Order: sequence, then structure tokens, then C-alpha cells
Amino acid sequence: MNFGNVVDHIARNTPDTRAVGDPERQLTYAELSAASNAAANIFAARGVESDDRVAICLQNQVSFLTAYLGAMKLGAVPVPVNTRFTDEQIHYVLDTSDISVIVTDQAFESVATEVETALTVDGSVGTNFHILLEEVSGTYTVHPRRSDETAAVVYSSGTTGRPKGVRHTHGNVIANARGIRTYHRLTRDEVGLTVSKCSHVTGLNVTTTPLLLAEAENWFLPSWDPVSVAETIENCKITYTFLTPNMTRDLIADEDVDDYDLSSLQRVVIGGAPMPTEQFDDAEATLDATVLEGYGMTETTPLAAFNRPDTAVRKPGSVGPPAREVVDLRIEDIETGQPVNRGERGELLWRGDTVTPGFERQQREAKSFVGRDGNRWLRSGDIGYLDENDHLFVVGRREDMFTVGCANVFPREIEEVLYDIDGVTRAVIIDTLDDRQGAVITAIVTRDGDITEARIREICAARLREHEVPEQIEFVDDIPRTATGKIDRVALGELFGRLSS
Ligand code: ATP
Ligand code: MG
Repeated sequence: MNFGNVVDHIARNTPDTRAVGDPERQLTYAELSAASNAAANIFAARGVESDDRVAICLQNQVSFLTAYLGAMKLGAVPVPVNTRFTDEQIHYVLDTSDISVIVTDQAFESVATEVETALTVDGSVGTNFHILLEEVSGTYTVHPRRSDETAAVVYSSGTTGRPKGVRHTHGNVIANARGIRTYHRLTRDEVGLTVSKCSHVTGLNVTTTPLLLAEAENWFLPSWDPVSVAETIENCKITYTFLTPNMTRDLIADEDVDDYDLSSLQRVVIGGAPMPTEQFDDAEATLDATVLEGYGMTETTPLAAFNRPDTAVRKPGSVGPPAREVVDLRIEDIETGQPVNRGERGELLWRGDTVTPGFERQQREAKSFVGRDGNRWLRSGDIGYLDENDHLFVVGRREDMFTVGCANVFPREIEEVLYDIDGVTRAVIIDTLDDRQGAVITAIVTRDGDITEARIREICAARLREHEVPEQIEFVDDIPRTATGKIDRVALGELFGRLSS
């Protein structure tokens, strides 16, 4: 049941199939199997034992996967660290997960020197991981693990506070990879692109681990740049990838991307944040691929609800049907905790094969799990509803919802209207205080051209209920983002005096 083993089976059957590549190196399954064995030997020689945490703070690259699988093979627990986390966040991760070994590069030299054992891919600090990989043995007997034992710790985005160290068991990782492989019909002929971060559950478990399970090929891109993405799609004949809504938006807005042949691309999974419905058709037209929105959390590894290529009716705006073969969904009233009727909104609760057993050091355990009907459910903090065809719609986070007068306001519903206005490029809705000290809806907007406040208000008045029309509109040059590229509502709240933070 050790997921680290997955490459060894493939290496025995089809050793010469390409497994992974990045702009600098490529490995076949046989080479990846040997390299991850060597990584296990390197960690073991440095005293790493089962259940010890091994931090991997690297951009997307082949060595990330080598270290990730190597740590698992030893029964140890890889902890990917987002390279865009602040120093404070990285230290928090190192302390919370009790890290004694880190694999990193020059960019994190100062952090690396604070950890007992540092291995760097560029030899900047500690020992050179690449040189060692060549030197040590490429054979290793994989340490058996039970499906309920921890395989990896993956940190959440930190949108609502500090990132949480989410424990994924081997069972979680396998159930997620199997589910995604099946839903997206990933075959051996698939050529995947991982441009979303491997340190986040998207780059790690929407592309990388399902592609391994499918015995397919996966290309890593170290950083986000629309032209490199287009170039890679053309050169490597990419068929499958994951993008966030922001990435999709940047990709379709970049005129240079038009010079590339993207025709190999068949399926693009989108998720991690709401995708404005207005962008959906543009994305399908520009990418000439089936765009499939999915919903998940780090706590669900992330498979929870996904549109599938064969879903009879794909509805833009819906994240697809819940993955009922893998998880159960309960939608409950936020006041009473009672299940709501179909079509009604409530908080989404999940349980099942992809749901984490808990967090590092039991952080937030009490807040995140709740007992209902004798079962333990994960509270998502997200509000949503199911329609008559079992399609799930995510309305927003419970935390972002606020009250103006007596009415509940869901920012996303107003943001959708704003995104639809020509000249508005990005929009966030928060609640602030006005001069009379009453709560008002404030729209924070980036624009392209000279659209006016009056015009925005006029369109909103025509399309929204009266109490939903933003009273204040603030134009800004840019909207702050978190390390995983999500809108940083906490930072915006501080800038504009958000009330309900
Ligand atoms: P933290 O839990 O640390 O505050 P986070 O919730 O942003 O941060 P992630 O686990 O990366 O951390 O993200 C999961 C969340 O992303 C979900 O709970 C949901 O709010 C949001 N999300 C994911 N996919 C979608 C989607 N398709 N539509 C709307 N929201 C989504
Ligand atoms: Mg969360």
C-alpha cells in the first residue's frame, strides 16, 4: 500500500516509458524508480526513519518528485513547502512539522542553514542532492505502509489564516489518484503538464500522482509564464493539465499565446478558486479543449466534486457532481446543523476515502471535524447547493459571507456580475463601514480602459437585487494574492477596513 511503490511496478513492466521531464532533465520510469530508491538511501544514511518529516522546498522539477517518492519509500513523510511562502510561513511549517531534513536550493539558503540536514539541488548549502543521487545505490526495499498511515503532509493555502499541515494517508493519495485517473480517463498515452505548484494539492494530486498511476508522462514547469506554457503544450504535445482560474485568465489574455499550436490539449481541469462563468466559454474557445471545473480542498486530497468529460450536462458555474464513488457529501443548515433540502444552500461537509484523518499536531481539529449520525465529517467552511441533476454549486466561503441590513450577501454572486462588465478585469466584494458607520458593500476593482464608477453601478443596478448593488467602488492597480495565487481577502480587508474579518 506504499504509494512510493507505484513507480517500481511500472518500471518493471515498461521501464523505458518516459515518466517525467522538466526543462533540464527527463527520466524514464526505470530511472525514476532508481532515482527515488537512491533518494531513500540518501535520507536513510542521514538518520531519517519512518514517520520522520522530510521538507521539500523546490519549484516544480523532476528532483521534487524524486525526493517525494524517495521519502515515502522509506516510510518517511514528505512535506512539500510552497516556494512562495514568506519566511515566516516557511519557519512555521518547519516548526509545526518538526523538520530535520530539507531538500531545497539557493533561494532558501538562509532557511536551509537552520535545519540539521540540508540537501540542495544546486549544491549551494549542505550536500549536493544531485551528485549524491549519482553516487549512492539505486536499489532499495520499500518500507511497507498501511493505507491509514501518513504518506505526506501538504499545507493548505493559508487563505483564512495560517496554512494548515494536512496529513494525507497512503489510502487518501491512492483513492484520489484512482478517482482522478478514472474521471478524466487518463491513459498511458496521456502527456500531462504540471505548472500549478507541486507543493500544493493541485500540482501534486490533480496532475502528478494521477499521471503516475496512469503510467503516463508528466512535464514540470518551474514557474508560471503563459508563453512557456504554450510552448510546452506545443513541443511536448500536452493532452492534460490543471490551471487555476487566474492562470486561465492570463493564458487567454496573452496575445503571444496565439502563435502556438495548442491542438494537442484535450482536457483542462480548473479549480482551487471560483471560476467566473464569463471566462468559461473564452477558455474553451482559446484553449480548444474541454474545460472541466472541479472543487476540492487540501483536506480532501483534493478529490471532492469534479466535472467529468462524460458528464451528460456540463453546467458552467457548477463544479460538477460530487465524487460519490469516493466521498459522501452532507449539506447542512449553518444555524441548525440539520441537512437542507435539495436546492437549498448550506455548509458542505465531506467524509470518505480522500478525506484527511487530521492535521499536524491536531491544529484546528476541533473546528474542522464534527460528529453527525455517528460519523465524523470534515467541515469545509464552504457554502453551496446541489441542483436537480446532482450538480454542485459553490456559492462561497462561510467566512466571506456578510450581512448588510438584514440580508446575507455572498460576494461571489456580485463578483460574477462585475466580471461580466467590459472594462472590469478583476473584482472583489467586501463589507466596509461608511461615513454613518453602517455596513456597506464595497467593490474593489481593477480596470482596463476608462469604465466609470457610475457605469458599473448602473449595470449592477440592472442585474442585481437592490441590496446587492455595491455602494462604494474602489479602483486599484492590482489585487493582493496569497502564495497559491488566491485573492488575499485578509490583506484587502486591512487595506479597506473590511468589517467581517
Ligand atoms: P486555508 O484552508 O489555509 O485557509 P484554502 O482553503 O484556500 O486556505 P486550499 O485547500 O488550497 O486552501 O483551498 C480549498 C478551498 O478553495 C476550498 O475550501 C474552496 O473555498 C476553494 N475552492 C476550491 N475549488 C473551488 C471551486 N471550483 N470553486 C470555488 N471555490 C473553490
Ligand atoms: Mg481551507
